[in-house]
Amino acid sequence: MKRWGPAGWYPGAPCAGCQGLADIQLVYGNHFPSVWEYAEAVRADAFDVCTYVGAVCPICGRSCGYRPIPAYRRGVIELFPVYRKGEVQVARAQCRTTRRTFSLLPHQLAPYHRYTVDSMVITLVVAWRLCDGQGKPRLEKTLDELPADCDVTLWLLQCWVQTLARGLRGAHPVLCGWHDLSGMRSGTGLADTLREVAQYLGALGVRGPPRIEGLEEVLLRYGARVGRFLIGTASQDRRPRLAA
Ligand SMILES: [Zn+2]
Repeated sequence: MKRWGPAGWYPGAPCAGCQGLADIQLVYGNHFPSVWEYAEAVRADAFDVCTYVGAVCPICGRSCGYRPIPAYRRGVIELFPVYRKGEVQVARAQCRTTRRTFSLLPHQLAPYHRYTVDSMVITLVVAWRLCDGQGKPRLEKTLDELPADCDVTLWLLQCWVQTLARGLRGAHPVLCGWHDLSGMRSGTGLADTLREVAQYLGALGVRGPPRIEGLEEVLLRYGARVGRFLIGTASQDRRPRLAA
Protein backbone atom coordinates (compact mmCIF):
# COMPACT_ATOMS: atom_id res chain seq x y z
CA MET A 1 0.00 0.00 0.00
CA LYS A 2 1.31 3.40 -0.91
CA ARG A 3 1.97 5.92 1.77
CA TRP A 4 1.42 9.49 0.74
CA GLY A 5 3.31 12.09 2.69
CA PRO A 6 4.24 15.73 2.40
CA ALA A 7 6.12 16.98 -0.61
CA GLY A 8 9.72 15.94 -0.71
CA TRP A 9 11.56 12.74 -0.22
CA TYR A 10 11.26 10.93 3.08
CA PRO A 11 13.30 8.00 4.42
CA GLY A 12 11.95 4.79 3.02
CA ALA A 13 10.81 6.21 -0.31
CA PRO A 14 11.60 3.76 -3.12
CA CYS A 15 14.87 4.14 -4.94
CA ALA A 16 14.32 4.49 -8.64
CA GLY A 17 17.89 4.23 -9.84
CA CYS A 18 17.85 6.11 -13.11
CA GLN A 19 14.27 5.15 -14.02
CA GLY A 20 11.54 7.69 -14.57
CA LEU A 21 9.07 6.54 -11.93
CA ALA A 22 6.44 8.93 -13.17
CA ASP A 23 3.88 8.59 -15.93
CA ILE A 24 4.92 11.91 -17.37
CA GLN A 25 8.29 13.65 -17.12
CA LEU A 26 8.15 17.42 -17.50
CA VAL A 27 11.15 19.62 -18.17
CA TYR A 28 11.85 21.82 -15.21
CA GLY A 29 13.72 24.82 -16.58
CA ASN A 30 15.50 26.36 -13.60
CA HIS A 31 18.27 28.69 -12.61
CA PHE A 32 20.00 26.55 -10.05
CA PRO A 33 23.78 26.57 -10.64
CA SER A 34 23.68 22.79 -11.01
CA VAL A 35 21.47 19.78 -10.49
CA TRP A 36 22.82 19.41 -6.96
CA GLU A 37 21.24 22.67 -5.82
CA TYR A 38 17.92 21.56 -7.30
CA ALA A 39 18.22 18.31 -5.39
CA GLU A 40 18.94 20.16 -2.20
CA ALA A 41 15.86 22.36 -2.66
CA VAL A 42 13.65 19.31 -3.15
CA ARG A 43 15.25 17.47 -0.25
CA ALA A 44 14.73 20.46 2.04
CA ASP A 45 11.10 20.67 0.93
CA ALA A 46 11.82 24.15 -0.41
CA PHE A 47 10.50 23.34 -3.86
CA ASP A 48 6.86 23.96 -4.70
CA VAL A 49 5.60 21.99 -7.68
CA CYS A 50 2.34 23.95 -7.83
CA THR A 51 4.12 27.30 -8.13
CA TYR A 52 5.98 26.11 -11.20
CA VAL A 53 3.24 24.11 -12.91
CA GLY A 54 0.27 26.35 -12.10
CA ALA A 55 -3.29 25.34 -11.29
CA VAL A 56 -3.94 23.29 -14.42
CA CYS A 57 -2.91 19.68 -14.10
CA PRO A 58 -0.59 18.63 -16.96
CA ILE A 59 -2.20 15.17 -17.03
CA CYS A 60 -5.96 15.79 -17.05
CA GLY A 61 -5.81 19.39 -18.25
CA ARG A 62 -8.09 20.62 -15.50
CA SER A 63 -7.75 22.19 -12.09
CA CYS A 64 -8.07 18.81 -10.43
CA GLY A 65 -6.12 19.86 -7.37
CA TYR A 66 -3.18 17.58 -8.15
CA ARG A 67 -1.05 16.99 -5.12
CA PRO A 68 2.67 16.73 -4.51
CA ILE A 69 3.77 13.21 -3.57
CA PRO A 70 7.12 12.02 -2.24
CA ALA A 71 9.98 12.68 -4.62
CA TYR A 72 11.82 9.75 -6.15
CA ARG A 73 15.55 9.25 -5.95
CA ARG A 74 17.66 9.09 -9.04
CA GLY A 75 21.31 8.42 -9.71
CA VAL A 76 23.27 11.31 -11.23
CA ILE A 77 26.86 11.52 -12.44
CA GLU A 78 28.68 14.69 -13.41
CA LEU A 79 32.01 14.45 -15.21
CA PHE A 80 33.04 18.11 -15.37
CA PRO A 81 34.40 20.35 -13.95
CA VAL A 82 34.99 17.64 -11.33
CA TYR A 83 33.74 14.10 -11.11
CA ARG A 84 30.74 13.78 -8.84
CA LYS A 85 28.38 10.88 -8.36
CA GLY A 86 25.31 11.02 -6.20
CA GLU A 87 21.58 10.84 -5.87
CA VAL A 88 19.07 13.57 -6.41
CA GLN A 89 15.43 13.70 -5.48
CA VAL A 90 13.03 14.54 -8.27
CA ALA A 91 9.79 16.32 -7.39
CA ARG A 92 6.55 14.55 -8.30
CA ALA A 93 2.83 15.12 -8.11
CA GLN A 94 -0.28 13.04 -8.70
CA CYS A 95 -3.39 13.91 -10.67
CA ARG A 96 -6.45 13.53 -8.44
CA THR A 97 -8.64 12.49 -11.32
CA THR A 98 -6.53 9.89 -13.11
CA ARG A 99 -4.13 8.97 -10.27
CA ARG A 100 -1.31 9.20 -12.77
CA THR A 101 1.87 10.99 -11.76
CA PHE A 102 4.17 13.59 -13.24
CA SER A 103 7.68 14.58 -12.28
CA LEU A 104 9.72 17.73 -12.77
CA LEU A 105 13.08 16.67 -14.12
CA PRO A 106 15.56 19.57 -14.10
CA HIS A 107 16.82 20.60 -17.52
CA GLN A 108 20.36 19.67 -16.51
CA LEU A 109 19.33 16.01 -16.82
CA ALA A 110 18.11 13.86 -19.67
CA PRO A 111 15.39 11.26 -19.09
CA TYR A 112 16.79 7.79 -18.45
CA HIS A 113 20.40 8.98 -18.40
CA ARG A 114 22.49 9.09 -15.24
CA TYR A 115 25.11 11.41 -16.72
CA THR A 116 24.19 15.09 -16.86
CA VAL A 117 23.55 16.67 -20.24
CA ASP A 118 26.69 18.80 -19.77
CA SER A 119 28.74 15.67 -19.17
CA MET A 120 27.51 14.03 -22.36
CA VAL A 121 27.97 17.14 -24.46
CA ILE A 122 31.45 18.00 -23.19
CA THR A 123 32.57 14.42 -23.72
CA LEU A 124 31.40 14.42 -27.31
CA VAL A 125 33.04 17.78 -27.98
CA VAL A 126 36.27 16.28 -26.67
CA ALA A 127 35.72 13.22 -28.87
CA TRP A 128 35.23 15.43 -31.90
CA ARG A 129 38.46 17.32 -31.21
CA LEU A 130 40.35 14.06 -30.88
CA CYS A 131 39.27 12.75 -34.28
CA ASP A 132 42.15 11.90 -36.57
CA GLY A 133 42.94 13.79 -39.78
CA GLN A 134 40.25 11.92 -41.70
CA GLY A 135 37.57 12.71 -39.13
CA LYS A 136 37.61 9.21 -37.71
CA PRO A 137 36.69 9.16 -33.99
CA ARG A 138 39.29 7.91 -31.53
CA LEU A 139 36.99 7.02 -28.70
CA GLU A 140 39.64 5.20 -26.66
CA LYS A 141 41.58 8.46 -26.50
CA THR A 142 38.40 10.21 -25.40
CA LEU A 143 38.03 7.80 -22.50
CA ASP A 144 41.57 8.73 -21.43
CA GLU A 145 40.42 12.33 -21.07
CA LEU A 146 37.61 11.45 -18.66
CA PRO A 147 37.91 11.22 -14.86
CA ALA A 148 39.49 7.94 -13.83
CA ASP A 149 36.63 7.03 -11.50
CA CYS A 150 33.91 7.16 -14.11
CA ASP A 151 32.45 4.07 -15.73
CA VAL A 152 31.95 5.48 -19.21
CA THR A 153 32.61 2.83 -21.85
CA LEU A 154 33.12 2.89 -25.59
CA TRP A 155 29.60 1.51 -25.94
CA LEU A 156 28.20 4.35 -23.84
CA LEU A 157 30.06 6.95 -25.88
CA GLN A 158 28.50 5.55 -29.03
CA CYS A 159 25.06 5.65 -27.40
CA TRP A 160 25.59 9.31 -26.51
CA VAL A 161 26.48 10.15 -30.10
CA GLN A 162 23.21 8.59 -31.26
CA THR A 163 21.17 10.10 -28.43
CA LEU A 164 22.43 13.63 -29.06
CA ALA A 165 22.03 13.30 -32.81
CA ARG A 166 18.47 12.03 -32.43
CA GLY A 167 17.58 14.86 -30.05
CA LEU A 168 19.11 17.59 -32.19
CA ARG A 169 17.54 16.29 -35.40
CA GLY A 170 14.16 16.08 -33.70
CA ALA A 171 14.50 19.65 -32.47
CA HIS A 172 15.76 20.94 -35.81
CA PRO A 173 12.43 22.48 -36.93
CA VAL A 174 12.38 24.61 -33.78
CA LEU A 175 16.10 25.30 -33.48
CA CYS A 176 16.41 26.46 -37.08
CA GLY A 177 14.07 29.32 -36.21
CA TRP A 178 16.66 30.62 -33.78
CA HIS A 179 19.96 29.59 -35.37
CA ASP A 180 21.36 29.18 -38.84
CA LEU A 181 21.31 25.42 -39.33
CA SER A 182 21.44 25.52 -43.11
CA GLY A 183 24.81 23.77 -43.19
CA MET A 184 23.69 20.66 -41.32
CA ARG A 185 24.27 17.35 -43.03
CA SER A 186 22.84 14.19 -41.53
CA GLY A 187 25.28 11.41 -40.82
CA THR A 188 24.77 7.68 -40.73
CA GLY A 189 27.96 6.03 -39.48
CA LEU A 190 29.53 6.90 -36.14
CA ALA A 191 32.09 9.32 -37.59
CA ASP A 192 29.51 11.22 -39.64
CA THR A 193 27.05 11.32 -36.78
CA LEU A 194 29.66 12.70 -34.39
CA ARG A 195 30.53 15.33 -36.99
CA GLU A 196 26.85 16.20 -37.27
CA VAL A 197 26.52 16.60 -33.50
CA ALA A 198 29.61 18.81 -33.42
CA GLN A 199 28.19 20.92 -36.27
CA TYR A 200 24.93 21.35 -34.43
CA LEU A 201 26.65 22.37 -31.22
CA GLY A 202 28.80 24.88 -33.07
CA ALA A 203 25.79 26.36 -34.88
CA LEU A 204 23.88 26.61 -31.62
CA GLY A 205 26.69 28.65 -30.07
CA VAL A 206 27.84 25.98 -27.63
CA ARG A 207 31.44 26.64 -26.64
CA GLY A 208 33.98 24.82 -24.50
CA PRO A 209 35.39 22.82 -22.82
CA PRO A 210 36.83 23.07 -20.21
CA ARG A 211 33.61 24.81 -19.21
CA ILE A 212 30.67 24.40 -21.53
CA GLU A 213 28.94 27.66 -22.42
CA GLY A 214 25.86 28.40 -24.44
CA LEU A 215 24.22 25.04 -23.87
CA GLU A 216 22.02 26.02 -20.95
CA GLU A 217 20.39 28.83 -22.92
CA VAL A 218 19.45 26.37 -25.66
CA LEU A 219 18.08 23.80 -23.21
CA LEU A 220 16.02 26.40 -21.35
CA ARG A 221 14.68 28.03 -24.47
CA TYR A 222 13.76 24.77 -26.13
CA GLY A 223 12.17 23.37 -22.98
CA ALA A 224 10.11 26.51 -22.46
CA ARG A 225 8.96 26.65 -26.07
CA VAL A 226 8.23 22.99 -26.73
CA GLY A 227 7.84 21.51 -23.26
CA ARG A 228 10.02 18.58 -24.23
CA PHE A 229 13.56 17.46 -23.53
CA LEU A 230 16.13 18.34 -26.16
CA ILE A 231 18.22 15.34 -25.17
CA GLY A 232 16.66 12.02 -24.16
CA THR A 233 13.19 10.55 -24.41
CA ALA A 234 10.68 11.17 -21.63
CA SER A 235 8.64 8.29 -20.21
CA GLN A 236 5.43 9.43 -21.92
CA ASP A 237 7.19 9.26 -25.29
CA ARG A 238 8.70 5.84 -24.72
CA ARG A 239 5.59 3.78 -24.13
CA PRO A 240 4.34 3.40 -27.69
CA ARG A 241 7.76 2.22 -28.79
CA LEU A 242 8.08 -0.17 -25.85
CA ALA A 243 4.62 -1.55 -26.47
CA ALA A 244 5.28 -2.06 -30.16
ZN1 LIG B 1 -5.36 16.09 -13.01
